Amino acid sequence: MDIFDFSDGREGYYGEYGGVFLPEILQATIEELLACFRECKADPKFWQDYVALLQNYSGRPTPITHLENLSRKLGGAQIYVKRDDLNHTGSHKINNVMGQGLLCQRLGKSKVIAETGAGQHGFATATMAAKFGFECKIYMGAVDVARQRPNVFWMENLGAEVIAVEDGQKTLKDAVNECMRDWVTNMADTHYILGTACGPHPFPEMVSWFQSIIGLEAREQMLKQAGRLPDRVYACVGGGSNAMGIFQGFMDDDVELIGSEGGGHGVGSYMHSSRLAYDDATVGVAQGYKTYFLQNDEGNMNETHSVAAGLDYIGVNPIFAHLHDQGKVRFEAATDVEVKEALKLTMRTEGLIPALESTHAFVTAIKEAPTMGKDQIILINQSGRGDKDIFTIADALDDAKWKSFIGGKADQYRAENN
Ligand SMILES: *Cc1c(COP(=O)(O)O)cnc(C)c1O
Repeated sequence: MDIFDFSDGREGYYGEYGGVFLPEILQATIEELLACFRECKADPKFWQDYVALLQNYSGRPTPITHLENLSRKLGGAQIYVKRDDLNHTGSHKINNVMGQGLLCQRLGKSKVIAETGAGQHGFATATMAAKFGFECKIYMGAVDVARQRPNVFWMENLGAEVIAVEDGQKTLKDAVNECMRDWVTNMADTHYILGTACGPHPFPEMVSWFQSIIGLEAREQMLKQAGRLPDRVYACVGGGSNAMGIFQGFMDDDVELIGSEGGGHGVGSYMHSSRLAYDDATVGVAQGYKTYFLQNDEGNMNETHSVAAGLDYIGVNPIFAHLHDQGKVRFEAATDVEVKEALKLTMRTEGLIPALESTHAFVTAIKEAPTMGKDQIILINQSGRGDKDIFTIADALDDAKWKSFIGGKADQYRAENN
């Protein structure tokens, strides 16, 4: 199936979802971006340059690892993991960002802006801007700036300006709104590096295209390493970019695709980020596109929660909204508690430290593997690594020795600076 075949004339729509809902003033900029993207997508040389850049800068292709210990322990399907955690800056986000960097060069723009929640996308964007020589501004909710100091530290040291957004709840959706405002004002020389497969067309298609490198590699690697395709593929879903990335390698195959959302405190708690699995979201238009949003009856956005900051978002990519309705992708959710348990298990049995986001995919896979046969195969996308998130993970695991270490550091700092 070609989800990006718009020959029915409804460019940028996936079923009823997607589209462009932006102020008139951005129309020309979005059209310029779309034209440039169409040119890049049709140009094999662009894709070759993109792949070469990721090979030489980010360590692609990332390997596939067979988790023999975990598979044996669970006693069911053989578990394989696509290691996108091994990318430079520690996650799949760099794929999209490097691609958009090349595109920005072709657009002839010299400045980039981006929104970030947890800071991973901002960190990747600041890295790319340093390499390409772009001026870089990162919009981040003031609450997130306060709680994500390590990523803010790196962004600033990489030369980006981090702008703390004081509107609304001072988190990701407020940062997105502020970023849009900047784009409206500075569109002549500024490209907006959107961080996931959401927002107005062509972003969902464009980000999915850059991330498809994960699935292209994974399909070939599975055939080579396991001798056949997996029966199921699991990925976590925030905006949906890493999942779109790996799923695209298996869309036309007899492979079941499963997305795992941020279940937070669980179904019915209203303290979660699950739009599709918990059935709490409704269709609406916000932030430039139409999809399922976690919103109330008046269309105001709900507060969301996940132990994994990267999954903590109100909307979901419009392609998934459509594939969900069609039953092409199955959506499940993992709770914060389940995530902590799965992370401990993966660390102890395999020496792998998946990011809290990626661990959501592990939770669902670990639940289902024992119900499958030993000759069956599942593939999990490890979208990022957790060791860079030591502050968050140590907090999540409520590690007493870590707390006393941080307390000691604080005392030492105060003593030295008084
Ligand atoms: C940002 C992030 C995600 C969530 O974003 P998607 O667009 O849904 O992929 C998942 N995993 C990691 C490691 C992230 O940094």
